[in-house]
Amino acid sequence: LPEEFEHARPVLQTIEQAGYEAYFVGGSVRDTILGKAIHDVDIATSAYPDEIKHLFKRTVDTGIEHGTVMILDHGTGYETTTFRSESTYTDFRRPDQVTFVRSLAEDLKRRDFTINALAMRENGEVIDLFDGLTDLQNNQIRAVGDAQERFHEDALRMMRAVRFASQLDFTIVPDTLDAITAHAQLLTKIAVERTQVELLKLLQGKTPQRGLTDLMATGLWQYCPHFAPHEVALKELTTQLVHGVSSETAAWTLLVTKFGLETAAITPFMKHWKTANQTINAVQTTSKTATLLLQGGLNAWQLYQCGADLMPIANEVAVILGAPDRLASLTTQLAALPIQHKKELAVTGKDLMQAGIQPGPQLGAILGDLEYGVVTGAVANTHDALVAQATA
Ligand code: ATP
Ligand code: MG
Repeated sequence: LPEEFEHARPVLQTIEQAGYEAYFVGGSVRDTILGKAIHDVDIATSAYPDEIKHLFKRTVDTGIEHGTVMILDHGTGYETTTFRSESTYTDFRRPDQVTFVRSLAEDLKRRDFTINALAMRENGEVIDLFDGLTDLQNNQIRAVGDAQERFHEDALRMMRAVRFASQLDFTIVPDTLDAITAHAQLLTKIAVERTQVELLKLLQGKTPQRGLTDLMATGLWQYCPHFAPHEVALKELTTQLVHGVSSETAAWTLLVTKFGLETAAITPFMKHWKTANQTINAVQTTSKTATLLLQGGLNAWQLYQCGADLMPIANEVAVILGAPDRLASLTTQLAALPIQHKKELAVTGKDLMQAGIQPGPQLGAILGDLEYGVVTGAVANTHDALVAQATA
């Protein structure tokens, strides 16, 4: 058993000693069997949330309405969810009600894919009711039960399927893939934030070509917000994106650069996806820089505007789209610039006011001109040279 499970064993034992059942479930079981590193250890139990809260000193109500309580044990948090069955779905996204049950089998039945429906006892014994182990061995993603029904119940599962194909380098079995094709349109019922999470994981996965190929083949791509005009670009990406991108910012940069979105079009596009403003700002810079790298090189001002923090992302995306890898030389060139940040400018607004320049918008404009002059080598970055230039 991995160290994380060893640490969590006493938690399961405490629940069992009180007369309930408790199992490791979800991604951590799947990833352990695959020999991969695990992140969160999730626990499923027959105990109700109140019963769990009585058993442990420190718990947090992280999702009590869904039956989830976080148990804090020796500094680690364990999401512990009461067995539940999800019966009626009317809006294609979440069950109308959560019903707590006392049976593990009921709980495993409502899970999305056979590889995610495995449970493990505290002693390492695996409970495999849907042949998930065989699918794990054969690198396959298969819906639990009737695939058509499962995607009809919850359309997000379709995005999860293509995401896992990318992350695990797995094949979606034909029956499950057909069901996605048949229900792709239901993706429009899902909150974009949730679709976004899966899309970003797909683009950062081990074999994004797989996930993208499935996204295209099933038609899911058409129901991703504002993807419709970009079929050709997406198909090309399917061959260009051999390894996953390194971050969410890189993923967005890749999409907007590949789609050829102008500066003014990037913000509305990303707002449709409800992306954080901070990410949008970064992507404005990285996409512009990646486009310049694809067209040739960067002048001193363009290098400076991108900056050392975002340059690796711009370079990464340009390389995916066919540019040579110039990160080493770009980094050297950046380091050789007279300044790297505005704050390194040898004058401040206050200095300029002392030299007789009136405060106001023109002061900012003058500072901007000085910054440009210093970066491009037109003026030395010294107090006297800059004041002289500003008052000339
Ligand atoms: P990751 O490694 O990305 O965390 P995961 O499989 O643990 O992958 P989670 O989103 O953390 O994915 O969900 C935990 C478990 O809950 C899944 O393994 C699956 O059993 C179940 N699950 C999650 N989302 C759904 C869903 N939409 N429909 C059915 N079961 C789901
Ligand atoms: Mg998980």
